[in-house]
Parts: sequence; structure tokens; C-alpha cells
Amino acid sequence: QENWINAHLDRTQLHVLSLSDWVNDAQYRVSPLGPKDPFVSPRPLIQSPSNSQASPIGWHQPGRDSSARTDTVGNNAFAQEDWDGKADITGWDKGKVRPDPGASLSFDYPLPTTQTDPRNYVDASITNLFYWVNRMHDFFYDYGFTETFGAFQEDNFGKAAKDLGGDAVIAYAQDGGGYDNANFASPPDGQRGVLKVYLFHGGTSGWRDAALEVDIVIHEYTHGLSTRLTGGASNADCLAWGESAGMGEGWSDFIPILLQVTPESTSNQEILMGVWVMGGGGPGDQGGTKPRGIRRYPYSTRLSVNPTTYGNLNDSSWYGEVHAIGEIWCNILWEMAWALMDSGASRSDLYSGPNISSGNTLAMQLVLDGMKLQPCQPTFISARDAIFQAEKILTQGKHACALWTAFSKRGLGPKASSSGLGRVTEDFSLPPDCASHSVRLQKRDETKDNGWGRGWGLGSWRRFWQSRRLGLLG
Ligand SMILES: [Zn+2]
Repeated sequence: QENWINAHLDRTQLHVLSLSDWVNDAQYRVSPLGPKDPFVSPRPLIQSPSNSQASPIGWHQPGRDSSARTDTVGNNAFAQEDWDGKADITGWDKGKVRPDPGASLSFDYPLPTTQTDPRNYVDASITNLFYWVNRMHDFFYDYGFTETFGAFQEDNFGKAAKDLGGDAVIAYAQDGGGYDNANFASPPDGQRGVLKVYLFHGGTSGWRDAALEVDIVIHEYTHGLSTRLTGGASNADCLAWGESAGMGEGWSDFIPILLQVTPESTSNQEILMGVWVMGGGGPGDQGGTKPRGIRRYPYSTRLSVNPTTYGNLNDSSWYGEVHAIGEIWCNILWEMAWALMDSGASRSDLYSGPNISSGNTLAMQLVLDGMKLQPCQPTFISARDAIFQAEKILTQGKHACALWTAFSKRGLGPKASSSGLGRVTEDFSLPPDCASHSVRLQKRDETKDNGWGRGWGLGSWRRFWQSRRLGLLG
């Protein structure tokens, strides 16, 4: 975590380029979410993606009293490079390079495979970073991360009772302050968040620019969501240590993996984080002998693939590192999402907003509402309880047993407990009311025979552990 510097930036420093309004005309060539190499995979050109509810003045005007711009500066994000690695909240407009296609707002920049110096494709990198930060702003807005709850915006349009604008996210691509990492500094409401993504060494594959790997960008922006919603937008200290800090990492992995669920997905789907930046992600490469990302296990509902349970927190090699704690929490949420999707609820496009009759959008909504309901410094148990509370408010307990099958499968059943200091007691039981819901628990028994981590040889396990150490995301 970087030191936080309080600073006030006079809005008159914003460089006015034009008075026109181009809300609906922009287009962006971007990386899709998923473990694919953006240099060889198709990169779609997305037309006019801004959402008029979430971003009423579009993505290129930093407030109603400012003029529209033609570069990557707007109400939700200011995106630019930080090659010298020195930029922070005050450095975003100090001679930094940003793509600027002029009035066309056509952010269509190539990724030439012949280029080895990332500076030569920085416009494509910044475009991708800017697009995905804005996209996630609009996405979370639909599920309730609005002005009232501390959304990162320069202008709050008078929609919040306590109107603290002036806090778009400042996003830096190709940040020279480090390597093989990324981070997000999330101050209280009214102060700008700072998102930094670095270059990764990428194994033997040469530089891999994290601004082009979407799961990493979403991971970082989600830190802003969880920090603003937990304990209120004005308190940025509620996910600071222990289980709560680990859960911050878990939510940040959960959002990008949930967004990879498609109508064709099944609960056997395995999802990895940070595949491409670690040197993997060639055509068709979701595994095999290539690096498998930055986490210890793939996210999976199969205990033979991901054996983590709540009780792993009793092991200091898990409890001692926030991302390891986060892996356990994220996989519990992944179980929860599949319990909802498997219990008959259909699936719909997450980007089209909340729909409580769809399992994936309901999971998204419960997770976001749970953040609002849970206390400052939540534990796995209080965060779980907040999800149950959210479900009761939203769907009147209809899905409570489905939720228990997921939590209990991973040791977070009704009798689980925590000292709050890294000593936990697991519980794999279901409440008596849910006795007929045993399917997910039986899967655990099946896996007891298989043993932990089947198929993961020692050599590969060691390599993944090293990768994770290298590739910790802030
Ligand atoms: Zn993180």
C-alpha cells in the first residue's frame, strides 16, 4: 500500500479542449475479459458504451461545469501513463501522455505484435484501462454503487445528500513505480482513488502490460467498491487487516470471475486470475503446462480442483497473506453464485443490470448489498450474515437454503465461529430447515476420497506458489 497524500486540485487546471458534447459517439478498441493474449485474440471495437443513468454526461466530460474533452479524462476516470513512476493524486495532469483522437472520439489503437517496447502501444493500453474503469463504474452503479454510496465521480449531479464530488479515479497505465503488480489507493468519499497497473515480466514471453489484462483492472477497481461500501463511504479503514483485508482481495477476484460466466458455463468451470500477465494465455490455453495465473488454485466448485475451506485460515501460510485469505473467500462466493445458478434460476447478462430471477445477477446484487449491510471490519461470518440479510430483504428468504449449501460446503456453516485473530472453527452442517438440500454437501464426501489438490504435482505447485508471490496484486 502506498502512502496517501492529501491534495486539493483546482478544477480550473483541467485543460479545456472543446465545448461539444460527445456522450454517444465514442468508440473504443479493447481487450475482452478472460485469459486471452490481447495481441493475438480479437479485440472488439465497442460503440457508445456509456450508460446514461450511471454517466449522464458520458465518459469524456469531467463535470457539468467543465467542457467535454477528446482524451481519456471524464467524470469517472482520468487515465494516462506514469512512466516515471512518480505520479500520484497530484501528478495526473503533469505532462502525462494520453490518447487523444480528436472530435471523432475513436479510440481505435492497434497492438502491433512487432513492438517490444510497451511505450509504443501506450495509447491502446490507456484506452483499455479507461474503458474498463468507466465500464465498471457504470456496471456497479446499476447494482447500487451510486452517488449516495460514494461512487467515484467528479460531479455527483446533486444526487447525494452529502455531496462529495471531485473524486474520479486517477488510473495510471505502464506505471514505472514497480513491476509485476497493480494497486488501488481508496481514500474516503470526496478524494480521488488512484489505480496503478504495472508491467509484468511475463515469464519468457516479454513484457506484459497489466493495463491490457481486464481481470486485473477490474480487481483493482473493485477495491474501490468494497472500501467505499463497507462501513460507509467516509470510512476507508474498514477492510484494513485480518479477515476483512483478505475479503477485500476476495471480492476483487470474485467480480471478474463472476463476469466470465456465460449461458454455456457449468459449475465445473474453472477460472484463473492473471493468466496472461504471468506468461500464459496463448490460443486455447486455459491450463496445461503454461503458467496458471497468480493464485494458488483455480476458482472452482470442485473440491478436487480447489480444496480450500474456511479452516485454511488456521494455517499461518494462508492467514498470513491477504491474497491467500481472499482466495478462500472468493471461492466461497463462487460456490454461492453457483448455488443460486443451479437452484433453477436462469442466467442473464450481468451488464444489463440486476434481475432477481437470474442466479448470476442475484449473486452480484447480494454481494454488493452485503457490503452495504456488513459492519466495519467484517469477518467471514459477519459478511456471510450480511449476504443472508440482503437475500431476506430482496427475495424474502426464498434462496436461504441454497446459500447455506454453498457456505456449509466450504466450512462456513451455521455453527462456524472465529476468534477474529486467525483461529476459526469450521462447520459443514446445514440448518435443520434445509435438510432436503444436501446435493452440494455430498460433493464434499466424494472429494474426501480423491484427496487434496489431485493432479497438482509438487513441481507445478511450487511454481504456482512462486508465481503468486511475484504476482501479488495490491
Ligand atoms: Zn487486490
